[in-house]
Amino acid sequence: MRKKSSFIYIGLILMGVMGLLNIEVKNPNQVYAQKPTMKKLIVIDPGHGGRDVGAIVDEALEKHINLQIAHKVKYKLSQQGYDVVMTREQDEEVSLEQRVKLSNESNAQLFVSIHQNAIEDNVTHGIETWFESGKSASKQFAQFIQEQTSLATGAKNRGIKDYTSLYVTRNTHAPSVLVECGFITSDYERSLLSSDRYQEEIAEGIVEGINLYFQSEPI
Ligand SMILES: [Zn+2]
Repeated sequence: MRKKSSFIYIGLILMGVMGLLNIEVKNPNQVYAQKPTMKKLIVIDPGHGGRDVGAIVDEALEKHINLQIAHKVKYKLSQQGYDVVMTREQDEEVSLEQRVKLSNESNAQLFVSIHQNAIEDNVTHGIETWFESGKSASKQFAQFIQEQTSLATGAKNRGIKDYTSLYVTRNTHAPSVLVECGFITSDYERSLLSSDRYQEEIAEGIVEGINLYFQSEPI
């Protein structure tokens, strides 16, 4: 007698569970809401590293500034729920081929290379964002990055520039940009670029540009 009633009891529970499942499947909104949200993967590429120091003026080494800004971008993106892969985490040499391979093999949604500009004089300053000519998604992404980094820092907006021979922006499958955060050759800008506060502002601008790019993307 006791066994039989417990069978009936289990049967009722099973029917109840199945009923719940049924309701969920029939309600498309509920099913959609329960779908796990896909994390977005961003590759951050601090330019140069190791023996390749990039531009150098006095004690300011481009490779160090690139890495410091990249770490700040990584931290902020992770805080907002993005997955982040860095092409280098420390002061080491990484070839351009390795950087592109890492981005393409990880199926990154966006690729951001971080550099500092250099020129013959010591007064030219401001931010530029470079992208591969003919890649429309990269151009759109470059516009967001350029606007937001200029806004966040108050730096001179030197606009977006299209190129046809930049290895990383040409060969990455993901929409990609190369941000020239400022001129290491400018006496005025070099001290800003070396400061923690200014680097934070650049990082904020890059993260905001990434957010706006995804918000504008047609679903
Ligand atoms: Zn560089």
